[in-house]
Order: sequence, then structure tokens, then C-alpha cells
Amino acid sequence: MYVYMQNNNKLSRLRQQLHDSVDRLRQVLEVAWDRSPLVKGSLYQIARRCGRPHCRCTRGHLHRNFVLTWSEQGRHHMRSLSPEQVAQLRPKSREYARFRQARAQVTVLCKRILAILDQIEELRREAS
Ligand SMILES: [Zn+2]
Repeated sequence: MYVYMQNNNKLSRLRQQLHDSVDRLRQVLEVAWDRSPLVKGSLYQIARRCGRPHCRCTRGHLHRNFVLTWSEQGRHHMRSLSPEQVAQLRPKSREYARFRQARAQVTVLCKRILAILDQIEELRREAS
């Protein structure tokens, strides 16, 4: 009887955890309902020398411009951007980052939910 009560307490606690995890999952999945476009990659400003022998960059005035970087199938890519492209791409790149963060949280939450389900199964299972 005592073990039965204990298991019931554990089950209640696990169900509460499951409930909380599902609520959190629902919040995280909000990103899936947005329709704004995503652009894979991060924006960086880079400063470099161009290589021309008498350019001002040889005296320390480096050329600065924005690039979009991303990797695909383990390969790194970089694209130079005009100021107009920077303005256009920045929010899309931010949205992409937000989406990927949410996706990573979904992975964690799904693992947690499965672990809770396994514990619930364990508590409910009787000897065969
Ligand atoms: Zn230069």
C-alpha cells in the first residue's frame, strides 16, 4: 500500500513535469507560425587589406565591409554585401538565428518529454 501511494505521488509529479514541458514546447513552437523570411547565415563586418601596393589600406585605413557567412555540408561560405543588402538581410538573419535557437530547444524538450514518459511507464508497469 505504501509503495502504491509513493508511486502515485511520483506519477503526479511526473505528470506535472510533463504538463510544464508540453506548455514550454508550445511556446517554443511559436516560431513555426511566423511567416517572415529567414536567411541562413550571420552578418559580420570585416576589415582587410586589398593588396594594391599604394592603397591607403597599406597605411592602416583598412577596407571595411559587411559579409554574410554560413556553412553548408561542413563548408564555410562568405558573401560580400552592399549597404542595401545589409539592411535587407539583417532582420532575416536574426530571424533565422531565433528559429534555430527554438529548434535546439525543441530537441531538448522532446528528450525531456521522452525521459518523463519512460519514468511514467516504469511506475505503471507491473511484472509480466
Ligand atoms: Zn586597399
